[in-house]
Amino acid sequence: MAIERIVIVGGGTAGWMTAAALSRVAQGNDVTITLIESEMIGTVGVGEATIPPFVEFNQLLGIDERELMAEAQASFKLGIQFVNWGKIGDSYIHPFGAYGYQMGGIAFHQVWHRFRQAGDKRPIQVYNLETMAAYFGKFLRTEDYNKRDDLPPINYAYHIDATRYAKFLRGYAEKRGVIRREGRVTDATIDGESGFVASVTMEDGEVIPGDLFVDCSGFRGLLIEQALHTGYEDWRHLLPCDRAVALPCEREDGSGPPPYTRATAHRAGWQWQVPLQTRNGNGHVYCSEHMSDDEALDILVKNMAGKPAAEPNFLRFVTGRRKKFWNKNVVAIGLAAGFMEPLESTSIHLIHTGINKLIAVLSLDGITQTQEDSFNRLTAKEYNRIRDFLILHYNATARDDSEFWNYVRTMPVPETLTEKIELFRANGQIFREEDELFTETSWAAVMMGQGIQMAGHNPVADSMTPATIKGELDEMEKSIRFLVENMPLHGEYLAKYCPTR
Ligand code: FAD
Repeated sequence: MAIERIVIVGGGTAGWMTAAALSRVAQGNDVTITLIESEMIGTVGVGEATIPPFVEFNQLLGIDERELMAEAQASFKLGIQFVNWGKIGDSYIHPFGAYGYQMGGIAFHQVWHRFRQAGDKRPIQVYNLETMAAYFGKFLRTEDYNKRDDLPPINYAYHIDATRYAKFLRGYAEKRGVIRREGRVTDATIDGESGFVASVTMEDGEVIPGDLFVDCSGFRGLLIEQALHTGYEDWRHLLPCDRAVALPCEREDGSGPPPYTRATAHRAGWQWQVPLQTRNGNGHVYCSEHMSDDEALDILVKNMAGKPAAEPNFLRFVTGRRKKFWNKNVVAIGLAAGFMEPLESTSIHLIHTGINKLIAVLSLDGITQTQEDSFNRLTAKEYNRIRDFLILHYNATARDDSEFWNYVRTMPVPETLTEKIELFRANGQIFREEDELFTETSWAAVMMGQGIQMAGHNPVADSMTPATIKGELDEMEKSIRFLVENMPLHGEYLAKYCPTR
């Protein structure tokens, strides 16, 4: 059956990102795109921290960065600072860019380790531009450097106001022909023969038929679960947090926004701080088995940079994923597909990669089993790899100050993760598999930050003399220091580049 009518159910970040991207694809084709959303139900509204591929997503849509950032009150983000994770009092940054650069065909942390053994004391962070700029609260886009070939580019993402971003994309998609329908979907009709969803029915009785449905209805999974009963893989035994409370605040000390997200571990979970241009987004992700809602809110309020600027928003979730993301003629994107806590800001990224894969396999001639299977296989792999990376933050810890930390420190973890940790411990090897999202630097930063030490390094590093390594490393450190010293403060840069509207 040819695809002439695409229906997106849900208008949160997932729905409008999908609508915006598909509206580009639909141009010049005989296909209508309808998005249904309900203002009464509203959106989850809390996804504010992103990672660098999100910058590309918006670029590919042809969106002007200044306009987007001004509309979404966005700030720049260079990485995530983790506080109290390895042990109380610890802190490290997982940066977006790489540590140094490859030397002799091996990862930089191998060479750094060799040099450390030869007596050099410099921490690996001094060879990463994003970490150093973050520590000093500085920012400058690569385009704005004075032309010098020896300076590394800067890798960044945004902190965004999710509600404003969805509104911005709505304008973009509607301008390109997406039809928006306001109201609540109350039912879905399934075709008896194919098992495909034939239409959805609105509260006022209107029937909206479709050939392909994208389920962006959030945690409820209106079509993928409630209509098609696809099933859900529950991962709470590996990532036991199941609640969050979100609460924005003003920055009381009047300081500019730091160019990084902060994730501070607490007794039974962790707190995020996402600095936007005019306020901080805050939230506390926690495990209901070990902490009450009242205590979670109390901890959050005591550790925010200012007084609450709204009522607390309590959310419940089950970490895991749908058994299939694409089932019959329904593709689930966003929270309808699954959820992992925002420790590494990966949810919006999974929306982006879900859209990419959908567009890559989409054929307006119809839907095939092969499309469904490939989409499901690739997406499942992506979820599993991100899951392992998140578990690492909990499992590689020395914390023993609560039942929660004792559980996550000693719980059995997937073999894929055990293998990664063991290889790194032995000689720093990190295999980045296929299109894995997290890079060697990501894995190395978190493993070292959480206290996992390399016992040795790759023997290739021994073939480099300390004198050669010293020359290269001195140059690297010097360029990064020069660049950071000459960067403006992040707040100053934002005020000039994209002042809030
Ligand atoms: P929603 O925002 O819930 O939207 C669902 C849509 O479906 C709404 O428009 C709703 O009206 C509509 N709908 C539902 N039912 C019906 C119906 N019956 N009829 C009509 N319409 C209906 N991600 C990140 O990348 N970074 C982060 O920092 C981050 N932080 C998070 C913190 C928390 C505590 C949580 C829970 C999530 C976080 N996320 C984060 C995830 C991020 O919020 C989501 O991935 C993103 O907002 C997408 O949500 P969504 O559009 O799938 O769902």
